[in-house]
Amino acid sequence: MSFQYVREMPSVREILEKMPLSDDLKKIKKQRDDDIAAVLKRENDKFLVIIGPCSADDEDPVCEYVSRLAKLQDEVKEKIILIPRIYTNKPRTTGEGYKGMAHQPKPTEAPNMVNGLKAIRKMHIRALRESHLSAADEMLYPGNYPYLEDILSYVAIGARSVENQLHRLTISGLDVPSGMKNPTSGDLEVMMNSVQAAQLPHVFVYNGWEVKTTGNPLTHCILRGAVNQYGSNIPNYHYEELVRLAEAYKKRNLLYPTIIVDTNHANSNKKYYEQPRIAKEVMKSRQQSKTLRTKVKGLMIESYLVEGAQKISEKVYGKSITDPCLGWEDSEKLVRDLAEYA
Ligand code: PEP
Ligand code: MN
Repeated sequence: MSFQYVREMPSVREILEKMPLSDDLKKIKKQRDDDIAAVLKRENDKFLVIIGPCSADDEDPVCEYVSRLAKLQDEVKEKIILIPRIYTNKPRTTGEGYKGMAHQPKPTEAPNMVNGLKAIRKMHIRALRESHLSAADEMLYPGNYPYLEDILSYVAIGARSVENQLHRLTISGLDVPSGMKNPTSGDLEVMMNSVQAAQLPHVFVYNGWEVKTTGNPLTHCILRGAVNQYGSNIPNYHYEELVRLAEAYKKRNLLYPTIIVDTNHANSNKKYYEQPRIAKEVMKSRQQSKTLRTKVKGLMIESYLVEGAQKISEKVYGKSITDPCLGWEDSEKLVRDLAEYA
């Protein structure tokens, strides 16, 4: 191997001792876990909205965003559970570009994995402290999950990782709802296989240990649109697509069959401003079909303080440096509208 071993990463115990989560925040997170699980278990009829920037690149605007969400959550609490999207690691299509705060605590500076780890835990704890909304993150590197396990209430597996064995097996040991995205090809069977794998118990090697899991019954599907062989985006949020997935669920013996729709990525053709229209179409589809109403339990929306996206060098406060996002005013209006539909 031509690896250069730069330095050993701090252990989970070390990081948790140095950056603990307070008991009151632990309690808040536990209550939120129960409330979110109740939606998937059909014990309550609320609707999940996972919402926030494509990448959480900067602690201050992210925490400001999440604090705004907290006020909005209060307004819509009878109908909707808001889960902030605080994504600290980004998969890249070609491997190039900003890989998220876990790699680069400052997007303009060189990667530093130890500082990245501390920066993401610091940001996640602050966001939870200031908003009391426990967050969602993508699990891009399964081995890193224990560093955030006590904080996250939702975990997504991205389109580029969903067919990976270690991701699936790791999710089988999580206690929180986990969304498996359809792969970029759009193959629904790959996504369903992933959900099935994660709902089953496994024995495997994880972070240097032989481990056993019991299976995660709260694993479910996220539709994010597909890309065909010519590079065109093919949406999969329309009524027929939702019904197709609901039918695919019926053919498998899976627990709590749930669909979440990602309104950006290949569903919006990365036209972030289409997200409100797409979100409302999904809500209308739910109203047309009892099956969809019981299966489509949430949306994932890319949103930040300022709409659109920018180059890293532009440094506009609260504007995405990865996928273009809906701005705050439109997002706020959308969440209020969704509460009317839910
Ligand atoms: C994302 O959620 O920003 C993302 C990269 O999603 P996907 O894995 O669907 O491309
Ligand atoms: Mn994105």
